[in-house]
Order: sequence, then C-alpha cells, then structure tokens
Amino acid sequence: MPHSASVRRSPAHHAVAATGGFGGPGSGTPGAGELLQLLRDGQPRTRAELARLTGLGRSTVSLRIDALLASGLLAPSGEAASTGGRPPARFAFNPRARVVVGVDLGATHGNIALTDLAGQPLSEVADDVDISAGPIPVLDWVVASIRRLLDEAGRDVTDLVGIGIGLPGPVEHSSGRPMRPPIMPGWDGYDVPHHLRRHWDVPVLVDNDVNIMALGEHVTAHPELDHLLFVKVATGVGAGIISGRQLLRGAVGAAGDLGHVAAPHAPDILCTCGNKGCLEAVASGHAIIKHLNSAGVPAKTNSDVVALVRGGNIAAAQAVRQAGRTLGEVLATCVSLLNPELVVIGGSIAQAGESLIAGIREVVYGRSLPLATAHLQIVSATTGSQAGVIGAATMVIQHALTADRVDEALASKSSVR
Ligand SMILES: [Zn+2]
Repeated sequence: MPHSASVRRSPAHHAVAATGGFGGPGSGTPGAGELLQLLRDGQPRTRAELARLTGLGRSTVSLRIDALLASGLLAPSGEAASTGGRPPARFAFNPRARVVVGVDLGATHGNIALTDLAGQPLSEVADDVDISAGPIPVLDWVVASIRRLLDEAGRDVTDLVGIGIGLPGPVEHSSGRPMRPPIMPGWDGYDVPHHLRRHWDVPVLVDNDVNIMALGEHVTAHPELDHLLFVKVATGVGAGIISGRQLLRGAVGAAGDLGHVAAPHAPDILCTCGNKGCLEAVASGHAIIKHLNSAGVPAKTNSDVVALVRGGNIAAAQAVRQAGRTLGEVLATCVSLLNPELVVIGGSIAQAGESLIAGIREVVYGRSLPLATAHLQIVSATTGSQAGVIGAATMVIQHALTADRVDEALASKSSVR
C-alpha cells in the first residue's frame, strides 16, 4: 500500500483523527466523498467509467480520485483491458486504509475486534467480563484490549477512524450514556464515550446490544435487503429495526425495546419492571427456565434450555414453542407496523432451533394480512457471536464514511494543529 499510515505518524494528525482522520497530502476536493460512495462496493473502476457513472467531466473525476488516493481510501487496482494504446488504470476502495474498533459487551462476556473499513475483523479479543462490576473496571479492560489490538496490528491513532460499543441495556445513542440499565449497576448515565476519548480522540458511538446485532446481521448475512427486523430472544427480549437500510432508533434510542410490551393473552406473571404480563416475563429465556423449573424440569441457564430441546425433552420443546407463539403475537403487530422483508430471530434461545421459529411463524402468518406476509420470511440468525463486534464496527463505518464526513475529513487537513 503506497499510501499506508507509516508516512503519517506525526502527533500533529490527532486533530484530523478526531473528525474521522482521512486527510492526506493534496486532499480537500469537494465531492470526493460522493465518488467514494460509488466505489464502496469494492468494484475496481477506471476514470472513464467513473465519469460515465457520475456524469462528471474527466478532469473533475481525476481531481477527486487524486484526493482519495492521497488519503489512502482509494488504491490503484491494476489496469482495464486495452482498447488500443496504453491500458487505463483502475481504482478501488481500499478498506485496509484505516481501522475501526467494534466492542460487544454482554452481561458476562466482552468481545472486541479490530476491523477494516468494510467491517471485516482483522484481529479479535474475547474474555469473561462481568458487566455488573461497573463502568470503570470494564471500560479499563476495553481500553487495555484496544491498545493491545492496535499495537499488535502495528496501527496507531492516526489509523483509527472510531470506536463502536454495544451495551446490554438501554442507551441514549446521542450521548452514549446508558439509561437505567437493569443489569448494569453503576452504569446509569455514565459517559462511556468520554472514558474512551481520554485515550483516543476519535468518535466513540454507543448503542444497545440488540441494535448492534441487527446491524451486524444485516451487513454480513442480508446486505441485499432494505427492511429487516432483528429479534433477540435471550435472558431478555428486544428488537433492532433496519428500515430503508438504516437502523431506526426513534426519538431517544428506545425503538425496538419490546421486552416490556404487554403480551396478548399472557398470564399475569410479575415482571422485573414492576408490570405484569410483559413479553420478557412470559417469553424470554428467563421465563422459560422458571416455567420448566415449576414443572420439575431442571434448567439453570439458556444453554440448559437449548440442550434440553436438542436432546428431545418434550416439556422444554413445548415451552420454547409456546414462547415462540407469544413472541409471534407481538411480532404480528410489528410486521403490520413496519412491513419488513425478513424477521431474523437471534439470541441464545434461538439456538434451540425450529421449536421457537415454528411457534413464531404459526402466529405471525396466521395473524398478519397477506400483503405484509406474502414475501415475508422468518429465519434464525446466522452471524452468531461475531454479529456484535461487526455491528459495532459497522455503526462507526456508516457514521464516518458518509460523503459529507469524508469531504469534511479530507478538507480538515488545513486545520491540523
Ligand atoms: Zn416488564
């Protein structure tokens, strides 16, 4: 890579990193960001092809290509077939030009990945992390792990575009602060971005784990779809909504928080939130375990439930299927409201296989109007444990690689202190 960061390691570039960090010598051409959007599909193209696609003049296209080449975001990619004379050079998006960090924190685990600008993990760290230990020890572990990943990859802050973090609780996305997270004592209102930004002056974006998983599942398994509903069924229940290829967060980031919606026809079971008959109280992993225990079936964890179902335990299979039906009652409403092309069921209980999905399908197809369900598919998640880190990195990439922010970062070279 001729434009690798090794030539730009002076601390003077920190100010650029704070706004996205794509600046390079000779950059600052307006409209280069727009050109980059076209090339983010990874296809190499010649100047003539880009001029044709954009309707821009050849000289304008050349200026924009030069700006992107200087930033490293674009790289030469061989030559096109010659039509007589010298074969024209081709250029392609260079995802390795910079790196992104994706952090996925759960109740008891922490996964961190260093990815390229296409969201592909380059290296990863995973460890047992107790989220209830509070923000300081957990985020200090995150900081130490990121430092190690960057060191091992030979990358420094001038290469780092941003850090994305998923947390297992409600998050005010605009401020990156958790909001009364039930399983995260000490985290309420904590300034998570500030904790990280004391070490790296880059954008730090925070969201709840379900939104992060929805993004990860969308980009890795279903990138061709525009409208997708991701539902996590684990100890709790929640949903992430992709609408028009964008994550739908709502006014304060609470969109998709289905756990405490009243489940129709559900028994009056008391929920941790104080209400009765919430979806989470009757159809979560926690609810299934309580139900099985009361019927004399020993199960302590979601993995126990999955193992029982896979092992052919009829009571467990019935309990999971009934949870699926109850989820289906709420999801039928969601399908009418959002008209997704695909509903993806993830989370640890989804690993129980067909029992859960069958229960959901039974009700959603029975209750929704044919127009909404004619092409609707309901499937299990495929990305597994990597969905979190890839989704967290994707959140940062989508934020940083918009045409406007790329132009801004290319132009901000002049404001380097
Ligand atoms: Zn509740």
